[in-house]
Amino acid sequence: MQQTTDTIAAIATGLARGGVGIVRISGANLTKLMDALLGQILVPRVATYLSFRDEESEVLDSGLAIYFPSPHSYTGEDVLELHGHGGIVVINLLLQRCIQLGARIAQPGEFTKRAFLNNKIDLIQAESIADLIDASSKQAVRSANRSLQGYFSTAIQQVLASLIELRITVEAAIDFPEEDLPSSMLEKHRQSCQSIGTEIESIFKQSMQGAILRNGAQVVLVGQPNVGKSSLLNALTQDEVALVSEIPGTTRDINRQEICLEGVPFHLFDTAGLRYSDDVVERMGIEKTKQFIAIADVALIILEAQANLNELDQQFLSYLPAGVTKIFVLNKIDLTGEPPRLENKGADYLVYLSAKTGAGIDLLRTCLLKVMGWQSEANVFIARERHIQSLKGAKLCLERALNQAGQWELMAEELRLAQELISQITGEYSADDLLGDIFSHFCIGK
Ligand code: GDP
Repeated sequence: MQQTTDTIAAIATGLARGGVGIVRISGANLTKLMDALLGQILVPRVATYLSFRDEESEVLDSGLAIYFPSPHSYTGEDVLELHGHGGIVVINLLLQRCIQLGARIAQPGEFTKRAFLNNKIDLIQAESIADLIDASSKQAVRSANRSLQGYFSTAIQQVLASLIELRITVEAAIDFPEEDLPSSMLEKHRQSCQSIGTEIESIFKQSMQGAILRNGAQVVLVGQPNVGKSSLLNALTQDEVALVSEIPGTTRDINRQEICLEGVPFHLFDTAGLRYSDDVVERMGIEKTKQFIAIADVALIILEAQANLNELDQQFLSYLPAGVTKIFVLNKIDLTGEPPRLENKGADYLVYLSAKTGAGIDLLRTCLLKVMGWQSEANVFIARERHIQSLKGAKLCLERALNQAGQWELMAEELRLAQELISQITGEYSADDLLGDIFSHFCIGK
């Protein structure tokens, strides 16, 4: 990826009214800009109270300024932070002044991209910064922090070190005639292959948990009015701190809700809203509904105990992709006197509960988390689909290498591929378009 060092600037605190607003600037050399804007070159890493001035030396705003000279800064370049007042106009005037002094407005994620390109952080850590900002639960914050602190990267580096060690001896074996190699060598290589495979498997499992925590589950809700959907959602989230992110595109309307169970976000889409609200029917056609249903992980079908689904509900269910788990919730058992219970029905589940009394709600919580494969948050580091795919690919390479033990060239090739896949996770061998895609999803100023 082409490395640029021109000066970039952005409002790091977002465009919102608040007590303090921060403009962040990064570039190869900020002394000229600092002199023009602040009338002095700041002492490094010391917060100085002063005035920010326009081209006629008029005061634009007053506040704190901090200078982080290269390389001891977030991006690795010279960084200047201006902490002014958080009014939308005043902070924009400050940004415009920086542009006038030669900076340009930063792209989304450009500060973090520079940190990555200057080797301040690896790709896993860069991604975890975005995940930390977007985290919608305490658990997601904790696991993003674990990735940011380097737990995931260290595990990857350890696998890489073992892989490189094995590759060196396997590649060396290629050049020797079979009879010159000690007989124990083959067994040693087999064992190394196996133990690296086990290491990758264990990281893969942890990453799967991290991906669940990050992505959560898409849940389609099917049920007639008055079966108790709202009551059920309230009961489910009663002990949870429901922290819903206000990221654009995730705002809720009457069809969508988000609940968090043990920190795992469940994105609920209520098909009933479509049938009973003209407004929504206007805005979202049946085709859009089908698209949503097609990406569902779980269908939550709510019935009053002993009632049946109507034709429209059946139709919605028929749009579900094959293999989606269905959880049938039989609500209002307090009226029928049945005990709360969880039953298997083939690959699907039946949960008998009462949203009103709370009986059986725990069973539904457990069931939802279980069908998503969630185990626990302990030691999870946040992970993404691309990490999962690389680990999956590397696992297959190791299996093939093990099967080809003794055929040194083939084995060496599989190990080389495994190393490449694992290296992509930390960004050592990542294509430009992948990096572009990752950083474009950041917010501006980060
Ligand atoms: P929705 O239209 O599907 O969202 O249903 P609501 O949650 O608004 O509930 C409809 C009615 O059923 C309300 O009067 C609730 O108090 C009642 N209700 C919901 N769950 C239960 C339950 O488990 N037992 C009993 N007896 N009533 C319930």
